[in-house]
Amino acid sequence: GPHVVIVGGGLAGLRTAQTLRGLGHRGGISLVSEEFDEPYDRPPLSKGYLLGVRGADDIRLAGREEYARLGIELVLGRAAAGVDPRARTVAFADGGEAGYERLVVATGARPRRLPGLPESVRVHYLRTAADSRRLARALTAGARVAVIGAGFIGLEVASAARLRGCRVTVVEACAQPMAPLIGAEPAAWLRGWHSERGLEFHCGTTVGRSEERPGAQVLWLADGTVVEADVVVVGAGIVRDTAWLAAAGLETHHGLVCDESGRTSAADVFGAGDIVCRHSAGRCRPIGHWTAAADSAARVAATIVGVPPPDLGEDGFFWSDQADLRLQFVGAVPPTATAAVVHGGFDSGRFVVHYIDGDRLTGVFAANAPREFLRGRLALRATRPASDGVRR
Ligand code: FAD
Repeated sequence: GPHVVIVGGGLAGLRTAQTLRGLGHRGGISLVSEEFDEPYDRPPLSKGYLLGVRGADDIRLAGREEYARLGIELVLGRAAAGVDPRARTVAFADGGEAGYERLVVATGARPRRLPGLPESVRVHYLRTAADSRRLARALTAGARVAVIGAGFIGLEVASAARLRGCRVTVVEACAQPMAPLIGAEPAAWLRGWHSERGLEFHCGTTVGRSEERPGAQVLWLADGTVVEADVVVVGAGIVRDTAWLAAAGLETHHGLVCDESGRTSAADVFGAGDIVCRHSAGRCRPIGHWTAAADSAARVAATIVGVPPPDLGEDGFFWSDQADLRLQFVGAVPPTATAAVVHGGFDSGRFVVHYIDGDRLTGVFAANAPREFLRGRLALRATRPASDGVRR
């Protein structure tokens, strides 16, 4: 088999390597990652790992012996910086170079930097295990914590900070936390749930200006509120580093443009995980959650080996654990959709919501109701038209 070089040692990179072997790939596999940590799982970084209930060994995605057993050459602390698709070489930031027969780009994403917020010891972004360890040290009881952005990572961090005894303020540009993801009504419920547990929200406003003062980072919000914080955590979404890929002539948009099977615009170059955006039917669909990243890796491995891609199903699934709240979502919430509670109720904190657009089920959201969520997920799968480009 051909020699496969995978750049990016996260979930998607490792999954690609493991699946290649699972499918009988005999050629060499090199897994090259910028980080010095062996491939690990990111979701715990804002949950159990941040709270110290899970350690480094618990979040490792593969045991040390697995790399040797599967014949995966793991190269840590090395960043790819260029590709030459014609010469089939990848160049590294340290000046080195490697030839490939198949290249898989699985470099993930980085946190979006907040303009107007200077880098300072009080300011935190969260993507890596090192980020999580640094943040954990800052979340001491009584600390004033400002979380900017109430998406799933922001709310997970805010919940963890509350559990640590911090005083937590959440700033969100939308009218409600997670509103773009789950719709207005469930988002209003979510805000209430967190408010009852001590989170203070400033929604519908943004950080205008910020300054590091002795003893505090001061944030001036657009609505006139002044927030003084010992710790500022930004959860303002992700950006994908595509410049070096575009410079190689690969088609990029919000991410590295790939088709359903993970092929890029260049022969023998593939993409997997968060770096990817898929273009179909005039839509750009970036990957940005765990399951989609893992599924895309399985598809790329199948494409490289030359077997039909696995029957994986669906898009847009994610979960989020916020204190003792388990949220699960699948599908989409079109602006015209309405939310209907089909199990339990908002008051009980255990419910399932179906999003209905016209007479079509478009998405399912559940709070602390995993079994009922699964039923909704299957119902959604059954209603999907075959034309949406999603394989079943
Ligand atoms: P990554 O996991 O980011 O891995 C990419 C790797 O490539 C990194 O190690 C990076 O350092 C390396 N790299 C980058 N550039 C280069 C380069 N040029 N050369 C070599 N290596 C490079 N999803 C959910 O569905 N549910 C959750 O609850 C959830 N919680 C999350 C919590 C946090 C704090 C974070 C950060 C993410 C969370 N996610 C969650 C999202 C999920 O973790 C990602 O979708 C998933 O990690 C994507 O995997 P990936 O391999 O594409 O990218």
